[in-house]
Amino acid sequence: MSGLSAPKGTFDVLPPESARFLAVRDTLTAPLRRAGYGYVETPVFEETAVFSRGVGESTDVVTKEMYTFADRGGRSLTLRPELTAGLMRAFIEHRLHTGPLPVKLWTVGSAFRYERPQAGRYRHFTQVDMEALGVDDPALDAEVVALGVQGFRDLGLTDFELLLTSLGDATCRPQYRELLVAYLEKLDLDEETRRRAEINPLRVLDDKRPEVQAQLGDAPLMVDHLSDSTRAHYDAVRQHLTDLGVAWTEAPRLVRGLDYYTKTTFEFVHNGLGAQSAIGGGGRYDGLSAALGGPDVSGIGYAVGVDRTLLAVAAEGLDVAASPGVQAFVVPLGTEAKRLAVRLVGQLREAGVAADTVYGDRGLKGAMKAADRSGATHAVVVGDRDLADGVGQLKDLRTGDQRAVPVGDLFEALRTAVGN
Ligand code: AMP
Repeated sequence: MSGLSAPKGTFDVLPPESARFLAVRDTLTAPLRRAGYGYVETPVFEETAVFSRGVGESTDVVTKEMYTFADRGGRSLTLRPELTAGLMRAFIEHRLHTGPLPVKLWTVGSAFRYERPQAGRYRHFTQVDMEALGVDDPALDAEVVALGVQGFRDLGLTDFELLLTSLGDATCRPQYRELLVAYLEKLDLDEETRRRAEINPLRVLDDKRPEVQAQLGDAPLMVDHLSDSTRAHYDAVRQHLTDLGVAWTEAPRLVRGLDYYTKTTFEFVHNGLGAQSAIGGGGRYDGLSAALGGPDVSGIGYAVGVDRTLLAVAAEGLDVAASPGVQAFVVPLGTEAKRLAVRLVGQLREAGVAADTVYGDRGLKGAMKAADRSGATHAVVVGDRDLADGVGQLKDLRTGDQRAVPVGDLFEALRTAVGN
């Protein structure tokens, strides 16, 4: 034994749980594919500046949680802590803004954050990420939010909530920020929180500590200080969401962990998850492209955590796994039968039937056990004596019923039996 194990805060996804992982991942992305979003892959590492500039210098993600390293060529690289900044980098690099707008993209993959691990919080996790870029239209905000909701609904989840607010934009956030800073200055806050208030005062509103929350009762809220244009935008988003049958909870203190959000901002929370209740979140980020040195284009998108959504699915006791295992199984007993089994399984798979057989010398008992464990509903059991008679036994593994079928008909008989 080498004693090696997965690094702290990471985990392996193994069968049969992995079937649920795939089902959740694919169900969350299906609504995006149906809505015309195109699949993108970007590297799991980027130049560090993509994240320090993109996610925001003052955020916990950038200051405390990034896996940053120098490669052998002396470049500073960072394992992506989220997927939006990399997608935006690719959008700018390939000048996608010069084509038809909006540009609708999605991706799914690993993200890495050096966080304190706990249930639902890992150092390596998987996000589904989508972005709609280049058009500032409240109807697009509503589409994005509704697609997130659709993914959760398609999984059968019901115990989740959409938290919604507007964070304003350059036309009103600076004035609001001054109001908030003046308010926070009068409070009894520790040194670190004061420093945080100087860099990003909105963050303090999101401070979970009771002694801080107790002082924030009548803090000014962004939604009460929106400019006419951002208020009109927010009203239109809510109107479209109502038309789409999407319910939400107003969350005027919602501040997200990343700095680039403007206007529409939202989070999906699940009530069965304890402290790490956020299963996804996102918003509009009209300044992100410019922050990365790109053209001044707007964007909106979200990221959903696949691992946490999987926990939500378990918390609601839902069975989401697309039937794992195989439909048909072939049990050969003897050398000649082995050749037939290998050929039959090959034919079945080619015809789209999930099929398997036994390998190694398992004996009848072991082989039948493997057939039962495989999840198959039907098996062909064939011994060399059957072969001499020109038949194999077609067996219904659920009822135990069995009948002899001519060797030449076994493929069709098995395929028909499993309903393919
Ligand atoms: P964020 O990029 O921080 O907005 O996170 C988006 C979603 O990713 C969250 O709602 C979570 O579902 C998931 N997520 C973020 N951080 C972690 C983590 N450390 N472990 C597992 N899931 C995470």
